[in-house]
Amino acid sequence: MEGLSNEGGQTMTSYADCSFCGGEVEERRIDYDYRRKGHLLVFQNVPAGVCRQCGEKYFQPAILKKMDENFHNIFEGQQQPDRVLDVPAVNF
Ligand SMILES: [Zn+2]
Repeated sequence: MEGLSNEGGQTMTSYADCSFCGGEVEERRIDYDYRRKGHLLVFQNVPAGVCRQCGEKYFQPAILKKMDENFHNIFEGQQQPDRVLDVPAVNF
C-alpha cells in the first residue's frame, strides 16, 4: 500500500526503500548541514526519510527546493536566519 496514513495525527510521507541497502525508510525530523560555495547553513527539524538500516537520508523534492531557496535568500541578505550557531572547528 502506497500513500498517506494518518495515525495519531501524524501525516507521514511515504518513501521508497533505501537505494543503497534496500532497508525501510521512515520519516523523521533531522538536522541537516547544507554546505555549498563556501557557505554553511544548518537546517533544523527538516522532514526527511532516513533508512533504518544504514542511515542514508532522502529528501522530498519540495524540501530540497525550500532549502535551496532559504540558502540563496540568507546568503544574498534577503532573509534573516532564525538563529546563528557557534561552530567549533579544529585544524588537523
Ligand atoms: Zn539503507
